[in-house]
This record gives sequence, C-alpha cells and structure tokens, in this order.
Amino acid sequence: MRKRKLATINMLNKVDALYVHVPFCSNICNYCNFTKFLYQEDIVNSYLISLEKELSFYDKNKYSTIYIGGGTPTSLNFFQLNKLLEIINKFKNNNEDFEFTMETNPENLTFEKISLLKKHGVNRISIGVQTSNDKMLKILNRCHKTIDVIHGIERLKKVGINNISIDIMFGLPHQKKEDLLKDLDFFLKLDIPHISFYPLVVEDNTIFKINKVKALSDEKIYEMYNLINKKLSNNGYYRYEVSNFCKKGMESKHNMKYWNDDYYVGIGPGAHGYVDGVRYANSSSITNYIKGEFIKEEKLISKNEQEFEYIMLRLRLKEGIILKDYLSKFGIDFCDKYSSEIEKLKKDGYLEESLESIYVSEKGIYLLNHIIATLTMNLNY
Ligand code: SF4
Repeated sequence: MRKRKLATINMLNKVDALYVHVPFCSNICNYCNFTKFLYQEDIVNSYLISLEKELSFYDKNKYSTIYIGGGTPTSLNFFQLNKLLEIINKFKNNNEDFEFTMETNPENLTFEKISLLKKHGVNRISIGVQTSNDKMLKILNRCHKTIDVIHGIERLKKVGINNISIDIMFGLPHQKKEDLLKDLDFFLKLDIPHISFYPLVVEDNTIFKINKVKALSDEKIYEMYNLINKKLSNNGYYRYEVSNFCKKGMESKHNMKYWNDDYYVGIGPGAHGYVDGVRYANSSSITNYIKGEFIKEEKLISKNEQEFEYIMLRLRLKEGIILKDYLSKFGIDFCDKYSSEIEKLKKDGYLEESLESIYVSEKGIYLLNHIIATLTMNLNY
C-alpha cells in the first residue's frame, strides 16, 4: 500500500508543505494527549534512521514550507538535532519566502541549540509558553519557568531568529479574568509577531482526566476569548484564524496551507498527510515506526467531502471563503449553491459578505460548528 502511494507522491508537484513529527519530550504535561514519548537516547537514534528511510520515498520533492512539530523536537540532544536537520534540509526549496518552523519549549532555547537551528536555515520558531504564571506551569507539569521564556526569546533575537510564535492556553483550572490579563500584558511585552491561543480541553488519556480536573464553563471561555481578542486587536495584532493572531504579514505560511485545504506530506509517528485526494495517518506506535511500518490508514476523499472540508477550514479564517477560488476549485458558484443557507445565517448575524468573499462575523465566531452544519446540511458526504 505504502509503495503504491509513494510512487504517486513522487510524481506530483502540487504538494508543497512537509510536516515532520518528532514525538519526544523531556517530560509529559498533565493535559497533553498528542503522540509523544519520554525521551530515550537510543529510541531517538532508531527513530532518526526510520525517519530518513520514510523521507527517502519523497526525494524528488522540495517544499516551500517545512514544519517540525512534536512532541518537543528540541528535546533531542545536540548531535541528534543536527542529524535531524541534515536529513530534513535536503527537502527545502531555496525560494526567498521559504518558511522553516520548529516547535520548541523555553527550557531548550540555549545559544548552542538556537545557533544550530539558524545554521540549518530554521527561520521561524514556535514556543510552548502556555502561561506566565509559574504556579500554574507547575500544575500543568511544564518544565520551564517564566524567566526561561524571557531569556529564550532574547537569545533567539540575538541570533537573528525574529519570526517567533508562542502557544498560550487559557481557561486553565481556577484561572480568573485578572490572571488572564496579567498573562496578556506579559505576552505583549515580549514583542513577537505571532501568538496562538487555545482553551484548555480536558482530553481522555491525560493526567488531568484521571485527576478529574474540570475545564471552565463555556460562558467563562467565551468571556476570556473576547478579552484576548479585544486586547490583542488593540495592540496591533490581527486575528487571521480562530485561534491565531499576528502582526501584519506574519501569518504562519505552513498552517495557512492546512486551512486552505492544500495537500501536504506528513511524516513521523502519528503524523497525518493529504496527498492527491487521499488523507492518510501514520501509525502512532514508535515500535511500528522503528520497524519501518509507517502508514496505518488511507482514505480517498470524495468530491463532497472535499467541499465540506474546504468550507469548514476556510471559515476558520477571518478572510473566509474567497468566491473566485471556490469557483475555480469546485466549478460551482458558492453563493448560488448555498443561497438560502447564507441568507439565513446573514439574517442571524453570523455571516457577512464582501464583493469577493463570505466570512464569519465576530458574533458568529463562537458558533462556528453551528454555522458549518447549517451551511452544509444538504451536502451528502
Ligand atoms: S504539551 Fe508539548 S511538551 Fe508537553 S507533553 Fe505534550 S507535546 Fe510534550
């Protein structure tokens, strides 16, 4: 199965983004349900051998965006990190707007590691910061303290990596409005171009779930989201996606490809990809991955499913559905096809339109699932 699909992948030019999953962390956070394993030197060495093998199937491709996520890719030791970047580097295209992101945690941002990333062309860093409250960081079982964030960002800027994003959580256990305001003031002082905010969700298979930690109510989450939206908008950040804010022109190019429903290759344990109309998922078992068993599931996406996914993903973006793009992608006029649903949602104040696009209003952003369900209720997929 794998060989047939890879042969197809190599012939395609449309795939322009590569995601690499590095599923290792130096400790496990209490809320995390991603595919991740505690760092072990020998397992990482075997993982790197498999990763190189998996990537060898793609050797004709060069990508305009590469995103190394995890896990915590920078939990690898210096030599392993160097090896990882040597493997990935062959897949970079050398265009001026090439974007190469690596996820990291604040405690890994040493001069030594940052300089290594810079040397290999990493030009965007996404840091798991979560909160500026040290007590809360402990409750989350994070490894860092707030001072590590300050020092790490100073070092990144000194080395010349200024395209920095931070991931933040809100709706944390017992978090109050005042706590969130303190967090926001701290993040704004960091003077970085991109911030992503996510509400805490108590997921299955997490320590929080076992300990019966309660997430905040929907009303509180709604209030907090409003607060974040207002504060960041007043301070020069633009909400270009439901959870993502940036300074002008600093959107994540790689993530924009996901929201545009473009094809991308995903490699590593638990990674997902979307190539030539097929969505696939790699096995999340590290043992299988090291044995060379990569893809676990593949699914050919029907035309209607594609249309549904496109609507769902594009409506997350502030710019919404661009009508001419929709027409060229699906050969149908969006406003004609969904005219009665659009009218209803406009009347309710959830959708707005311009000459070029249909997009979700500020009021509608909290009811995105309802809007998508209403719009697509007659689409069989
Ligand atoms: S949240 Fe990030 S650092 Fe924490 S366990 Fe999950 S992947 Fe690792």
